[in-house]
Amino acid sequence: MLLLLSGKKILIDLGSGTLYRLSKIGYKIDQINILAITHNHPDHLGDFLAFLHSIKWDPSLKKEKEIAAFMPNSVYQYYKSIIKFYGDSIKPDQKDFSFNIEKVSNSIYEIEDIIVKTILVEHTKDSVAYRFEYKGKSIVYTGDTSLNLSLIELTKKCDLLISECSYPTNRKQEGHICPEDIKILIEKARPKKIIITHVNPNWSEGGESLKI
Ligand SMILES: [Zn+2]
Ligand SMILES: [Zn+2]
Repeated sequence: MLLLLSGKKILIDLGSGTLYRLSKIGYKIDQINILAITHNHPDHLGDFLAFLHSIKWDPSLKKEKEIAAFMPNSVYQYYKSIIKFYGDSIKPDQKDFSFNIEKVSNSIYEIEDIIVKTILVEHTKDSVAYRFEYKGKSIVYTGDTSLNLSLIELTKKCDLLISECSYPTNRKQEGHICPEDIKILIEKARPKKIIITHVNPNWSEGGESLKI
């Protein structure tokens, strides 16, 4: 998912097809300022290897770029294992492309005028949700998670909530949000707008409507 905020481009997660979709909407990796990874599941990391490979080898990319990369420790360990396996053939060349990694949990950072907040959520052992704030406006991205009090707190009065909604309420699964949870989030946190994402492809099998 690509967010445009304060002239900055924030890429959230790197699921399979991300690079292709980016190019389809006219963006290249060298335009990304912030990479924000939520957790270490393949549907969020399928293009991580391709992303690193492109940084290293795509001759059309501008050099001397900087990416602030936020990721939980488990994703950082995955990154290190990629570098160990592929060596210099994939390791970002810092003089061409600064890839500045921050390991996140319950964290807060400032990237110029953007505040990046993360909280640990209930999915994998170190999954995080993100809140980006800029000049009093805020966007929350849940990543994959169950509903819990800290997520409600992170979401409070945000301008835009981008929430997963993997399964219908009648097939709710641990570690994921369902429409009933979205209702609770709306009541408790009062986000101004919501975008639903990460909808499982077999949603309609249970016959439940996504209407909330
Ligand atoms: Zn997941
Ligand atoms: Zn997922």
